[in-house]
Amino acid sequence: MAAWRSLVLTLFPEMFPGPLGQSLAGKALDRGLWALDILDIRDFARDKHRSVDDTPFGGGAGMVMRPDVVDAALHAAQENWAGAETSGEEAPGRRAPVLYLSPRGRLLTQSLVRELAAGPGVTLLCGRYEGVDERVLEAHDVLEVSLGDYVLSGGETAALVLMDAIVRLLPEVMGNEDSPGEESFGENEFEGLLEYPLFTRPAEWQGRKVPEVLTSGHHEKIRLWRKAQAEEITKRRRPDLWARYTKN
Ligand code: SAM
Repeated sequence: MAAWRSLVLTLFPEMFPGPLGQSLAGKALDRGLWALDILDIRDFARDKHRSVDDTPFGGGAGMVMRPDVVDAALHAAQENWAGAETSGEEAPGRRAPVLYLSPRGRLLTQSLVRELAAGPGVTLLCGRYEGVDERVLEAHDVLEVSLGDYVLSGGETAALVLMDAIVRLLPEVMGNEDSPGEESFGENEFEGLLEYPLFTRPAEWQGRKVPEVLTSGHHEKIRLWRKAQAEEITKRRRPDLWARYTKN
């Protein structure tokens, strides 16, 4: 099967792969376990100044990314995907969704990350200025995805976070030592809970000892202790997650 692929539309192509060229994701990129392609939105500007934005209708501060320029970039992205399909790189019929990173989008969660990791890939539209003209988002049936309730200066850092979360779940990307195991939001006995506290050597550090149960070698007791800790931390720090967990 073809590698999971990300096609990023941005005004700042030099921001990629950035941190994703390092460590786990970088090694996986080198090994061809995932692919990253970039389209520079400015290449689709039509005037001699290569302008990609204009003032907002109705007035107000800032600039808005033009629909005709973004549309041309999205069409080029579609062609790019079609090329990958016809060259046999992609399973037919599995379309990669087009996502626009946006503070008003669907909140990025681990379940959305898993869903996207299971597909063929994503096209990511990175906004700048005040954002993108609404009509082009409608025309391309774009799914808006938010990283959280705060405003970034551009979609590029959000795209990097999204890809980081996805890539580590792809087959063969994580070795045993990096295994997702029982981490927060994982699909396991601890699903829906935040992670329990972690400890490593030395067993005593600055007068602080590792909880005794963890050095007991008693697997069942360790499991129960970790579960109780995960529940306690979730209850205290994230009442919203705790309410969902207890409901399920
Ligand atoms: N005017 C927009 C608003 O008030 O919602 C904010 C625009 S922001 C300065 C520029 C770009 O950053 C957005 O188009 C989007 O692509 C990206 N961005 C900002 N915050 C984000 C977030 N929380 N999640 C995902 N992308 C975000």
